[in-house]
Amino acid sequence: MLPTLRETVEFYGLLANKSLGQNFLLDSNITDKIIRLSLAQQNISDFKNHNIIEIGPGPGGLTRSILGANPKSLTVVEMDSRCIKIMEDLKVETDTPMDIVNGDALLFDPVANISAPRQIISNLPYNISVPLLLKWLCQIKNYTALTLMFQKEVAERIMAPTHNKDYGRVSIIAQLTCSIKKIFDLNPECFTPAPKIWSSVLLFQPLDTAINTEEITKIEKITALAFGQRRKMLRQSLKSIKDITAKLEQIGINPTARAEEVSPQKFLELSQLI
Ligand code: SAM
Repeated sequence: MLPTLRETVEFYGLLANKSLGQNFLLDSNITDKIIRLSLAQQNISDFKNHNIIEIGPGPGGLTRSILGANPKSLTVVEMDSRCIKIMEDLKVETDTPMDIVNGDALLFDPVANISAPRQIISNLPYNISVPLLLKWLCQIKNYTALTLMFQKEVAERIMAPTHNKDYGRVSIIAQLTCSIKKIFDLNPECFTPAPKIWSSVLLFQPLDTAINTEEITKIEKITALAFGQRRKMLRQSLKSIKDITAKLEQIGINPTARAEEVSPQKFLELSQLI
């Protein structure tokens, strides 16, 4: 029988390591809620048809909740070797086929290693949450969904609409690849140790029209210029692009507009002209 999560953490003396972005969820009510609401938003009752990838399982609270939803298989990718033994203990106890990868999620390719249909679930290490998200968005059509926890201010950037101070590169790329729903916000006391800020869980589901890696790369270049000087008019911030004023006018963007007034779709149209 498995010990409780707190017993596991004490047994392995697992003090959180700040440099690995570790804030643990030790309350099963919360981890179960993440899984329950993600399933409900997807209109499914379990993960029996899905191969699940969990990034950064840590002591395994969220992992236990994922296993409770009966996945077809579970692959965990964890950088901290202290947590690998905990995953091995879980593997012995579960009937779910489980793969344990001791490595860097930034270097791990779920599409190459795990069959479809696949989903990623993670309470992300906050220091690399955006690079990981952008990496998965480049291949989003290979996933049925991503259920991810971010710092609340990062979640706000991801979901920000135009004319909002948080709107920028990440909002545009996320919104051109996925439909995004907020599942819920968590206050700092839900975590051990408690961070200073709130967190949010988001569900990403790929759009049929999701843009591909090549398009994302082009948009990253344009948005870096446009939002690098976000108070400037686009004809000024994008002046290194040949005939920019004519190109903006051709797709109905006022050259005197600022970056945050331009919709994701219009940034896509502009990238297609360049
Ligand atoms: N899932 C656990 C939970 O909810 O309690 C831990 C979440 S904690 C916010 C992030 C986890 O990601 C930690 O276990 C940390 O060791 C792991 N991690 C950090 N950087 C990583 C990386 N590059 N690749 C894989 N795992 C990483």
